[in-house]
Amino acid sequence: MSKRILITGGAGFIGSHLSERLLREGHEVICMDNFFTGSKQNILHLTDYPGFEVIRHDVTVPYVMEVDQIYNLACPASPPHYQFDPIHTMKTSVLGALNMLGLAKRCKARILQASTSEVYGDPMVHPQPETYWGNVNPVGVRSCYDEGKRCAETLFMDYRRMNGVDVRIIRIFNTYGPRMNPNDGRVVSNFIVQALKGEDITIYGTGKQTRSFQYVDDLVEGMVRMMDTEGFSGPVNLGNPEEFTMLELAEKVIEMTGSSSKTVFRPLPLDDPTQRKPDIRLAKEKLGWKPHITLEKGLEKTIAYFRSIL
Ligand code: NAD
Ligand code: UDP
Ligand code: UDP
Repeated sequence: MSKRILITGGAGFIGSHLSERLLREGHEVICMDNFFTGSKQNILHLTDYPGFEVIRHDVTVPYVMEVDQIYNLACPASPPHYQFDPIHTMKTSVLGALNMLGLAKRCKARILQASTSEVYGDPMVHPQPETYWGNVNPVGVRSCYDEGKRCAETLFMDYRRMNGVDVRIIRIFNTYGPRMNPNDGRVVSNFIVQALKGEDITIYGTGKQTRSFQYVDDLVEGMVRMMDTEGFSGPVNLGNPEEFTMLELAEKVIEMTGSSSKTVFRPLPLDDPTQRKPDIRLAKEKLGWKPHITLEKGLEKTIAYFRSIL
């Protein structure tokens, strides 16, 4: 049955893919965004769907409407963007979650929070299961994002316990794909843009730190499954457990783009986690979900996208 679904942050990278998927399934989608890091370009192709609606609004301010489901994605996700105005980032996570939970409570909507692997901080347990409480600096430059997301998780669980709100929490690990903002500052977009322009590939620190990269289509499948699964609130990790060093990623991008770019080393940002890899046993068990797209396949599609826009 067709549902009315609110996606906050719907004009962003992940939000635009999720909107597309839900519209294709025949749902009404309301995209709420303040266009801080998202863009109209990301959702332009969706305006042909009669069920698509866009609202320019900041989630830190209350909003009243009637919906069946809410995906709460509003929040800048790349370190340069979330550190640009750290206080507003914290407000977005905390007040945004509060307002959307209040909305969900009033109209009895199911609500999913886009949390993050950053709740594990610089993890001492590897790979990271959902039962690990994390190692987060509460007063550092990444804290506005990490602690904001942790606080949002707390609010979600307390609205569930106190008010019976039907909540879902997913912890998203590094995700990439078409429609990432070329100026986003995240590693996959930086390396591809640099390689295509023949500029130096900037490796922060030694490049031996690791991340596990998930292609956006795999994530969207997991998000929809989590929203539509009965009786399981999470939190649940959604990520691709294949782990790479940034040096390996740079090498792959140079090879796949046929670029003549050279790698250069730059200082490591403060509190940059040394390793990250999801334990996805819970997602497999509860959602029957696992990622299918390898880094190679996903990079192919992402490189093709950046070639088309640069
Ligand atoms: P993005 O920056 O492309 O999208 C975020 C969207 O939220 C943008 O459209 C932005 O304009 C909007 N937004 C920001 N602040 C807002 C506010 N106060 N009110 C209304 N809209 C606001 O990032 P993304 O990669 O698409 O991330 C989407 C969500 O997924 C974020 O919550 C992010 O924390 C989470 N996440 C992403 C990743 C990843 O690797 N991409 C990893 C973990 C978690
Ligand atoms: N809220 C909202 N839209 C709604 C209902 C609530 O934005 O449709 C906001 C509300 O303004 C408040 C927050 O959500 O800031 C939490 O609402 P709740 O009803 O849980 O708490 P209260 O308003 O009683 O403090
Ligand atoms: N990174 C890098 N070069 C860049 C951008 C990022 O080496 O041009 C590194 C960064 O220091 C981190 C990793 O790549 O160790 C992933 O960074 P990103 O910002 O994409 O994600 P996050 O740190 O939030 O996982």
